[in-house]
Amino acid sequence: MDMNRLYYKDAYMKEFTATVLSCEEDKKGYAAILDNTAFYPEGGGQPCDMGTLGDADIIYVGEKGEDVVHYIDKPLEKGSAVKGVIDWERRFDLMQQHSAEHIVSGLFHRKYGYNNVGFHMGADMITLDLDGELTWAQVQEIELEANRYVWSDTECRIFTAEGEELKNIDYRSKKELEGSVRLVEFPRADMCACCGTHVKRSGELGIIKMFSCQSHKGGVRIEMLCGKRAFDHITEIAEQNKEISNLLSAKVKETAGAVERLLNENQSLKNALTEAQNAKLESITREYAGKSDVLINEKGLDPNAVRNLANMLMESGCKGVTAVFSGSDGEGYKYAVCEKDGDLRQFVKDMNSALNGRGGGKPFFAQGSVSCNWSDIENWFGGRQNG
Ligand SMILES: [Zn+2]
Repeated sequence: MDMNRLYYKDAYMKEFTATVLSCEEDKKGYAAILDNTAFYPEGGGQPCDMGTLGDADIIYVGEKGEDVVHYIDKPLEKGSAVKGVIDWERRFDLMQQHSAEHIVSGLFHRKYGYNNVGFHMGADMITLDLDGELTWAQVQEIELEANRYVWSDTECRIFTAEGEELKNIDYRSKKELEGSVRLVEFPRADMCACCGTHVKRSGELGIIKMFSCQSHKGGVRIEMLCGKRAFDHITEIAEQNKEISNLLSAKVKETAGAVERLLNENQSLKNALTEAQNAKLESITREYAGKSDVLINEKGLDPNAVRNLANMLMESGCKGVTAVFSGSDGEGYKYAVCEKDGDLRQFVKDMNSALNGRGGGKPFFAQGSVSCNWSDIENWFGGRQNG
């Protein structure tokens, strides 16, 4: 382990001074290498630190061989002393998420033998992939256990081991590594090989909250958050729920039932509306049954009802072209036109062209819409009959 990586000596170092060993222009900006650094380079599932080096802003921190490379937006003079300042809020958040991920993975591993096969610490939600199936109740059980561990305020132990000693330690992420391995232990919860930064005590995690568990590649993907990120997310959810509670005049813990009642009520209303509309369509059909070249303007029908009415009229023995319109002069009209065994293709083409419309369908049945006034429709149909 490089002793010029200050975050290994003290993960809580927010500022440091260093000498610039080199600084060269690079695709990503200027690449600076320092004699020591507290900036964590991206690795082990943990995103890199951000912050400033002198007057320059950090763009990205990565590794090149043994070196930590700081990509910055301004050049630094080789040999100069420079002050580095870590964006501490961001780093502490990442330490919280990373430590929480270890504890949760360790508890799942202890109880079910599952391995963490994917971990993503994005800007928003943390996802954790495990290689076995879990029910939501099982996830909630581990969630509670993880939080009890947080409240126990247990000290995190970080140490290196090698050779025989290492062989005898049971830890996660075991690889055939040469030399010494850095181990992060949360006693009674987890032991894992890791190069990341971690909190000193589990109590600093505040809260670990799981939000979902879904099947994923033969195992599960769990969404979780820790610390302030969990606090912010839960606050947003609580605010949403409070609004729902106010809108529905329901207690905050009874909003789901209230929404369910509302949905049921909505469905009943839709059913009643459909029934009333069907009765209306049937009554219109009786009125026009057997007539020729029927042209109807009926307010308030949706495209389905327009089509149904045209169809019902055609089937009731209406002769010639049956045309049903619904809409208004301002918003235009939806239409359905049909003729039993007829061919209306030219008719519909002419009508669309005359009435600024669009639509089509089968030779004997077309539907669409027109942008014009009702008087235009009447005139066009009238002119057609007279001509
Ligand atoms: Zn780790």
